[in-house]
Amino acid sequence: MTIAERLAAVRARVEAACQRAGRTASEVTLVAVSKLQPAAAIQEAYAAGARDFGENYAQELRDKAAALAALDGLRWHAIGPLQRNKVKYVAKAAHSFHALDRLEIAQELSARRAGAALSCFLEVNLGDEAAKSGVAPGELRALREAVDRLPSLKVVGLMALPPWPKTPEDSRPHFRRLRELAQQHGLTALSMGTTADFEVAIEEGATHVRVGTALFGERPT
Ligand SMILES: *Cc1c(COP(=O)(O)O)cnc(C)c1O
Repeated sequence: MTIAERLAAVRARVEAACQRAGRTASEVTLVAVSKLQPAAAIQEAYAAGARDFGENYAQELRDKAAALAALDGLRWHAIGPLQRNKVKYVAKAAHSFHALDRLEIAQELSARRAGAALSCFLEVNLGDEAAKSGVAPGELRALREAVDRLPSLKVVGLMALPPWPKTPEDSRPHFRRLRELAQQHGLTALSMGTTADFEVAIEEGATHVRVGTALFGERPT
């Protein structure tokens, strides 16, 4: 299958999930996760109409943003954990950051951001997994309040990457929990769902789904 065909198939699945949930597809941003994929694959997806792309690694984001600067209206979503010395690349190139979980990184991002505020999702560790990034639900309020004081960041919602699901339904309680947390905190955007479970995520209210493999095929290693 070509990338254009894969994109059409994923879009159809997004639409069907929206219909089941009584939502419209325009409420859901499909973030095409292009990490480790060549620039040519991004160009192909862009030509087929994709505009939102997700990258995990800051230097890769920097390099691809430079190489693809001519693609008008392309939005880069930084979706992976960020080290302090690489904040500058995200501050410069990204439209939004989905993995904010440390005030120190937020401060650095805000200090280095020029122009429009960077839209940020606070990442929540829902499965209480020691090895995963994200703040515990009980730490959300403090982080939110501190980030809200920074001039160049705007908290728009919550993000989570739940424990790897054996079936898509395994993720449902986690997605539901994230939606409830967002409601409690007065946040409307929800970045949740990958190739493994994006339809369930949409049924549970996702506004941003991060889909890589279903669009680009297996990642090169
Ligand atoms: C890689 C990645 C994705 C996409 O995963 P796929 O299984 O390829 O759809 C989504 N979110 C995050 C945070 C990722 O690192």
